[in-house]
Formats: sequence, structure tokens, C-alpha cells
Amino acid sequence: MRRVHNFSAGPAILPEPVLAQAQAEMLDWEGAGVSVMEMSHRGREFGQIITEAEADLRTLLAIPSGYKVLFLQGGATLQFSMVPLNLMARGGPPDYVITGEWSAKAAREAARFGVRHIAAATPPDNHTCVPAQSDWQLHDDAAYVHYCSNETVHGVEYHWIPETGNVPLVADMSSHLLAAPLDVSRFGLIYAGAQKNIGPAGLVIVIMRDELLGGAGPGCPELLDYQIHAQAHSMRNTPATWSIYIAGLVFKWLLAQGGLGAMDALNDKKAALLYGAIDRSSLYRNPVAVADRSRMNVPFILRKEGLDELFLSGAEERGLTQLRGHRSVGGMRASIYNAMPMAGVQALVDYLGEFESRHG
Ligand SMILES: *Cc1c(COP(=O)(O)O)cnc(C)c1O
Repeated sequence: MRRVHNFSAGPAILPEPVLAQAQAEMLDWEGAGVSVMEMSHRGREFGQIITEAEADLRTLLAIPSGYKVLFLQGGATLQFSMVPLNLMARGGPPDYVITGEWSAKAAREAARFGVRHIAAATPPDNHTCVPAQSDWQLHDDAAYVHYCSNETVHGVEYHWIPETGNVPLVADMSSHLLAAPLDVSRFGLIYAGAQKNIGPAGLVIVIMRDELLGGAGPGCPELLDYQIHAQAHSMRNTPATWSIYIAGLVFKWLLAQGGLGAMDALNDKKAALLYGAIDRSSLYRNPVAVADRSRMNVPFILRKEGLDELFLSGAEERGLTQLRGHRSVGGMRASIYNAMPMAGVQALVDYLGEFESRHG
């Protein structure tokens, strides 16, 4: 067996102890005589799995009472539709802030449901910073404000929480939820697809303030109505049982690591190591404003033409995989989520130096 250092943006690396536990429990989950994939979502065993997953997530993020946790499907992309479908009627046109591909897609989808305002945006060919909040044009009567707190493609991250007064703040946190402690009380609604920093694909987690439930219009399909999911405890229909189980194991692993404070410190160290190597080199370059750099997704380019394929094949040979940048921006991207150990980042940094000394 060979395990590589997997820098994929998503579906992405999972903690090895979680995979080992899933393997050990694959044929017989805690004496049930079946795998989690084979058990009824309405049975006692799965009831325990989803209840513990929610409780552990609440502990990790210190989610205040008055917030629902939903385990849904359709990815973060379906949230681009569910958010306007459920929240748009609360007020005037919602405000969207665009800082990269994902927030642009969310804004595009919202336009299908009616008018929305673009409160601030970085240029489509230059998503390399976060616009200061003083430059946002927010509307006091907006139904909500939507932004993407970590742009997975461009490696741009907000290291601050926008202030929106009484207007609910909605965040797509798909690629960095659980990377650090978070003040959930500042948000009306948070969503995150699991396959980046949480667990397997097929699951999206929604954390939302109770008072935002019940805002879907009469034409809203029931599976797109947060209220119906909340009333049914995420079991209106069959949930993504396996993905919820694995995410639950990841939550327990995070707690055993010391929780999100410990992850935060480790993520700082990993990012500092990698950005330090990029910034010191004359071959590699990260285009993002230093204050807005993502600690999870680290894009970089090679300043010399024609070396990309050589770089990638050399990396593959050393077991450093999935480093090709997103097709829309090119270059390289290393995603270093919670599950990426320091040793993986160090192996990449060693390779960066080695490659530069030969080809730089
Ligand atoms: C990956 C990603 C999405 C889309 O997720 P799907 O699960 O493919 O729908 C949306 N937003 C962000 C920030 C992402 O990283």
C-alpha cells in the first residue's frame, strides 16, 4: 500500500485515523452486524451516529442555542439556490460580495430568483484580495448579505467577519469551516460542502439561526425548504448516511487533536511554512495580498515559462499529488486542509527548493 501527500482542493485528504477506523468498522459497525452504508437511517444505530455528529459539531464550533444544524445534500452549489429561495422574501434585494469564482457563482444563481445587488467585487481576472468593508455598498433593507469567506480557487480568505448590523450575514465556508474557532453568533446562516475540510462528498452542512426558518415561498419544493429539513431533523428523506458518519468521525478526531484552537495554531504553522518558502524563492510567486491569503488553499505560479508539466511530474514521482491549479486560473495550488499533516507541507517545501535549485 502507498499513501501519497494529497493536495487536492476537493474531494480532499481525510485524517488517516478516520479512514482506518472506518475500515475497521466497515463490515460490522459496533456490533450491528452491518456497515453504516447498509443500515436504516431511521434505526437506533444511525440515530446515534447523527445525534453524536451534531453534538460534536456543536461542541467544536461552540454553536449557540437558537441555531439549527442541518445535514443536507446537493453540495454547496444547491445552497446558492436554497439561500435566495428561503431568505429573499425577508427584505429588499440581497447584497452579494464577489471575491472569486464561488461567490460569483452564488451571485449568478441568486439573480435567477430576482434582483440582487453586488455590494462589492474584485475584478474577474484579478481575484487577489478582499475589498475593505468601507468599500462595500450595503443596503439597510437587504434580505441578507452573502459572501464566500474562503475562495478555494483563488486562495483568498477573509480573516475578519463583515459587520452587517441587523441584516443576516450568510457565508459560504465550504473550504475552511473547522480550520479555526468561529463566532457563529455573528452569522445568520453558514454553509459548507463537506468534501473540502470536513468529510466525503455528498454532504453539505448548514448552520442557521432559528428565526430565518420559514421564509420559503409557497412554490418552494419541500426539499429546498430549510424549515422542512429542520422539523424533520435532516431526515425528511434519506440523508447521506455514510458521509454523515465519516464527518462525525472527523469531528471526534478534531476534538481529540485539542479542538479548533489547536487546529488553528497548526494551520498557522503549515501556511507560514509554505508561504515562507514561496516568498523567499525567485521561481515561485503567490499573487494574493498578504493580509488576505488563504491558509487552506495556496495557489502559486512558476515565473519561468514552460516548467509546469516538469514540476507536476516531478511532484508526482515524489508522491506529492493534485498540485495542478484550477482550470480557470492555471499554475499550481496546494490545498492544506486540517487533515494535511505538517510532514506533508514539509515534503512539498523540500520539493519546491529542490526543483528551483535545478530549474530556477
Ligand atoms: C467546492 C466549493 C463549492 C461547490 O461545492 P459543490 O459541493 O461542488 O457544490 C462552493 N463554494 C466553495 C467555496 C467551494 O470550495
